Amino acid sequence: VVELGMPTRSVITTCAYCGVGCSFKAELRGDELVRMVPHKDGGANEGHSCVKGRFAFGYASHPDRMLKPMVREKITDPWREVEWDEAIGTVARRMRELQQQYGSGAIGAITSSRCTNEEVYVVQKMVRAAFGNNNVDTCARVCHSPTGYGLKQTFGESAGTQDFRSVAEADVIMVIGANPTDGHPVFASRMKRRLREGAKLIVVDPRRIDLVRSPHVQAEHHLQLRPSTNVAVVNAMAHVVVTEGLVDRAFVDERCEDFDGWEEFIARPENSPEATEELTGVPAEELRAAARLYAQAPNGAIYYGLGVTEHSQGSTMVMGMANLAMACGNIGRDGVGVNPLRGQNNVQGSCDMGSFPHELPGYRHVSDDAVRTVFENLWGGTILAEPGLRIPNMFDAAIDGTFRGLFVHGEDIAQSDPNLKHVTAALEAMELVVVQDLFLNETAKFAHVFLPGASFLEKDGTFTNAERRINRVRAVMKPKTGKHEWQIVSEIATAMGHPMSYGHPSEIMDEIAQVTPTFTGVSFQLLDKLGSVQWPCNEEAPEGTPIMHVDEFVRGKGRFVVTTFVPTAERSTRRFPLILTTGRILSQYNVGAQTRRTGNVAWHPEDVLELHPHDAEVRGIVDGDMVTLASRVGETRLKAEISDRMPPGVVYTTFHHPVTGANVVTTENSDWATNCPEYKVTAVQVGLARPR
Ligand code: SF4
Repeated sequence: VVELGMPTRSVITTCAYCGVGCSFKAELRGDELVRMVPHKDGGANEGHSCVKGRFAFGYASHPDRMLKPMVREKITDPWREVEWDEAIGTVARRMRELQQQYGSGAIGAITSSRCTNEEVYVVQKMVRAAFGNNNVDTCARVCHSPTGYGLKQTFGESAGTQDFRSVAEADVIMVIGANPTDGHPVFASRMKRRLREGAKLIVVDPRRIDLVRSPHVQAEHHLQLRPSTNVAVVNAMAHVVVTEGLVDRAFVDERCEDFDGWEEFIARPENSPEATEELTGVPAEELRAAARLYAQAPNGAIYYGLGVTEHSQGSTMVMGMANLAMACGNIGRDGVGVNPLRGQNNVQGSCDMGSFPHELPGYRHVSDDAVRTVFENLWGGTILAEPGLRIPNMFDAAIDGTFRGLFVHGEDIAQSDPNLKHVTAALEAMELVVVQDLFLNETAKFAHVFLPGASFLEKDGTFTNAERRINRVRAVMKPKTGKHEWQIVSEIATAMGHPMSYGHPSEIMDEIAQVTPTFTGVSFQLLDKLGSVQWPCNEEAPEGTPIMHVDEFVRGKGRFVVTTFVPTAERSTRRFPLILTTGRILSQYNVGAQTRRTGNVAWHPEDVLELHPHDAEVRGIVDGDMVTLASRVGETRLKAEISDRMPPGVVYTTFHHPVTGANVVTTENSDWATNCPEYKVTAVQVGLARPR
């Protein structure tokens, strides 16, 4: 921690790391940030913070920060620093040329879940209004897109049901495929507080995460399932609920539909814990006991993470959890619900703002004529009724030669996306790659134009956290690059012939409120008055909505969906006998672009491969050995860490460092509904990298 003397002023803003969305006082001396102090009135954190938000802000002034725009003809050429006018003009001219040569569908953009709502909104607007297509997608494609799909299908809204405060009323907490201690530390503290007060805990995870057994918290049940069998486990729990008479009939009869067909499906013998025990690896009696505990609790709450979504059946699993919660009447009040723990600071917001190729802001389908008319009247021009390309489709089309230009906003796809060989081949095939970022990241190696971005300390706007809370982000200094990101995007759109002009991000939020029914009451004035607000915020809920689906579901009735278990195509084989799954660590954040440029890197200087003692012994591997990790798509090297947190046959690593690059080995398998990559299941082999 660098203490730079006594602060002379402070600004209240929001942490730019995880989806908890902690509020901080940024304390300054002159223009120098002295420290970040958790804000006691922060709606999400109530004065708490973790090591990232509090201490890991040094990246904002790191010497690696790029402050000047740069261009080059070919990716083998050296970069040439240019003024903003030239950089913006180059992007606009080359994008227009690609449109003219290959058609307007040949270009697109990826929005960032690390940027503000206002920035994301203008990027998707630029694509729809100036690029003339719906080829906009978000990095949420690779994390919580199944949440958006699954919760919309069942509840009618692509968002979690509760506020964080609600966990204090839960009697049973079920954590599925999430590691809140590392991924969402401040919310984990709230959860642990409730567990210490006596709430019971069920953990569903192949790995023995900290919550299972820590000094003050013990899980009642740890369902240590085999990777890829989530759906079989949640179906088996629901089977117990249905066949043992634990359904909340009054709730189901009054609030839900399509129950009978689902009940007939779930009661089939093949969904029983006994029938699925061998498949899932979870003892039937343990699973029955966990199902009874959840169903019989006055309040049962589900919290989940990427261990749910990043599977070939990620969307099915989200709907499976929704089915279970509805069957037990665990929706619509304090202490219950189905709650995604969002990874990035603004992944909820980037989805809300119309970043998906099939949805305009507010999750409204582009094929809806009335919705398109609202936007066309405001923006001018015509919005296409056909969905655009998703990120993996953009890569495929680039390799096929039909997709030629990509604007990548604050996202390092050449490190974070799966099957990196395919990603880099796609980037190399494009004629124009524009990267806007703080640093020359891995993706920038393939870029023709680099637009330097601003850190969160230089931004005004909003982030929306995992509980739909819209938090204010306030600039403590001017952009070091000389331009706001929303200005850059607006100027590109204008130079392409679609004038976009805003004087301040508050004007962008006013426009968002004008066209998005769940945001009609939101303004910077309201946020400054209330501190933060949870959407929907409109005439019916002028101060926001902490808990959703209280009297009725957003779609009217909650819908039960048949969730048939379908095994993943990824199987362990003689050549690749182990299953790799991935996760995060407390001190680092995602691909590490920020945290690796802070003191936090000392806590976790490299990714390691956790390996069960049995799997290590048969391969002659000891703790600290350098090992090769190979799948059918690629190979990398990293250090072995012998650990019994994973069961035999399953190995685990994090993905915070580009050198070790776990995504060199992850495959093209993806969720059937959303194409969210199946990061959590890769068949691999592990061997000693070199003799000791
Ligand atoms: Fe930031 Fe998340 Fe830590 Fe809060 S819990 S300080 S939002 S990283």
